[in-house]
Amino acid sequence: MKIAFIGLGNMGGPMARNVAAAGHQVTGFDTHAPMPDGVVGAISAAGAVKEAEVVITMLPNGAILRAVAAEVFPAMTRGAVLCDCSTVDVESARAVADQAAKAGLLAIDAPVSGGVGGAAAGTLTFMAGGTDQAFAIVSPLFDIMGQKAVHCGTSGAGQAAKICNNMILGVTMIATCEAFALADKLGLDRQKMFDVVSTSSGYSWSMNAYCPAPGVGPKSPADNGYKPGFAAELMLKDLRLSQQAAAGVDADTPMGQLAALLYETFVEEEDGRGMDFSAMLPRFEKRQRG
Ligand code: NAD
Repeated sequence: MKIAFIGLGNMGGPMARNVAAAGHQVTGFDTHAPMPDGVVGAISAAGAVKEAEVVITMLPNGAILRAVAAEVFPAMTRGAVLCDCSTVDVESARAVADQAAKAGLLAIDAPVSGGVGGAAAGTLTFMAGGTDQAFAIVSPLFDIMGQKAVHCGTSGAGQAAKICNNMILGVTMIATCEAFALADKLGLDRQKMFDVVSTSSGYSWSMNAYCPAPGVGPKSPADNGYKPGFAAELMLKDLRLSQQAAAGVDADTPMGQLAALLYETFVEEEDGRGMDFSAMLPRFEKRQRG
């Protein structure tokens, strides 16, 4: 297939490289990042998309996605698909899909989980929102860039799944970290705490697969000085998107709201920026009640 890739940063770069390595013809555009191996550079986003059957975007936020979409839609071939893999607000995803339909194009929102490691290894999970027709066209590309793609529903459903998942992740990571800090003060050994919780009803991905305590459980960023991994500021971004979405549909999400506030404090007022999101554990270690 002829593919255009716009946004070739930490995630988009390796994803585009994998699509090119699988034999597709990939044209790329990024305002700053270099072209990955196998990708032919274009001088503008509109130039990159001209003959593409699928245009993949991997951009920082919804405002940039809307601007790029407005620029490329007039240049895209009728019937082509815009597949946005960025994490953006549900409203932007739906607005871009509406504009695509008006321009005679298909659109799918397909945010990912799996991080930079998953992007490089081609093992991402895609959560997709859009029509069956658009999903069927893009599916072979999901198979190259990832190991699983779930068609979640109509436009915006992929972004909805992503922020709900990450709201659970933010909340459970905080709960896991505060429980470890409490266990410390109660004199409970961290390894014993892991042995019990990881096989009891408190288990979660945060505890079992990404344990925030160094030297305990499987290897995780905690064993590497809390170097990300998944940076605290990216978790803050996703938690803010969850709260923006919750406000938009009048959903009561008190735990998500508190998690967003804690990550905001950690990133903007403490030393959380540039740390993995599991560095909430050393944060709690240093604190007292109240
Ligand atoms: P990044 O900042 O490394 O990459 C974004 C790229 O977009 C940059 O190279 C930037 O130059 C480019 N860009 C910005 N404006 C542009 C424009 N108008 N036209 C063309 N290119 C433009 O970010 P990333 O880590 O690759 O993340 C991309 C998206 O993926 C974000 O929405 C992020 O939330 C999401 N995401 C990231 C991770 C992760 O672990 N990094 C995991 C899951 C999802």
